[in-house]
Amino acid sequence: MTPRNLILQAVRSLKEAGVPDPETDAALLLSFLMGLPPLELRMDMEHTVSAEIVSAYGDLIGKRQQRIPLQYLTESVRFHGLDFRVDSRVLIPRPETEQLVDWGLEILKNVAAPAVLDLCCGSGCIGLSIRAARSDAAVTLTDLSEEALAVARGNAEQLRLRVEFLHGNFLQPVRQRSFDLILTNPPYIPTGDLSDLQREVRLEPIMALDGGTDGMDFYRRLAAEGALYLSPGGALLMELGIGEGEAVSALFRRTGAIQTELRKDFAGIDRMLLVRFGE
Ligand code: GLN
Repeated sequence: MTPRNLILQAVRSLKEAGVPDPETDAALLLSFLMGLPPLELRMDMEHTVSAEIVSAYGDLIGKRQQRIPLQYLTESVRFHGLDFRVDSRVLIPRPETEQLVDWGLEILKNVAAPAVLDLCCGSGCIGLSIRAARSDAAVTLTDLSEEALAVARGNAEQLRLRVEFLHGNFLQPVRQRSFDLILTNPPYIPTGDLSDLQREVRLEPIMALDGGTDGMDFYRRLAAEGALYLSPGGALLMELGIGEGEAVSALFRRTGAIQTELRKDFAGIDRMLLVRFGE
């Protein structure tokens, strides 16, 4: 079997299973198995592939037919210029979350040695990206899921980034502490919408997705307690679900925020909210 034949066959199988982008996935999975960048693979499509790889490829294509996300199969995601390992214990980092990190770095520009919290860290993509860009920052990452924290710890080790990990519910692990910036990409999908999500997304941890009846449970808790955990002049920066911008801003203004600022993602959706409570 040559790469060309293998890929053609795989594309057919993936198409039958309704996989959204069969050509890309078939090529990426083979280049992953062969340890070759996709472009190099493309330049040599006629050699013979070993029996081991043919059989491993069959397994991976079978899993992708079951709509297991591509990133769980290759176990890696490029995020903010860094390679993160991911598996089904964590949410797959999304490109729009890179914009949240960029905004966070902008906010921290004039703060020396900032204390930063990544609340609900999942893979650790937010907190570790901040630490990679700001070696003077003291970054704490927390999650309710021990399993997610194990993945985040592995990522910190692999990226050689010194940060603090704490396990626990919501802000409990950092009681009595304060931060210059708290970033969070919380669960924000309304419970009733979960069953309409793409099949791949439904294989990600439900705990990282389910935001309660209206998707806003987490923001309500953060509006009630967040200010207690901010240093003077500190800020909360959070990712939002589609259509939640106005309601979440209003929620924070009702609990004493003096500044709420929305920003859009690449798709033009109000995706991020900055909140300050004053000095
Ligand atoms: N912070 C992680 C991310 O942005 C995980 C978020 C979550 O689990 N809700 O990908």
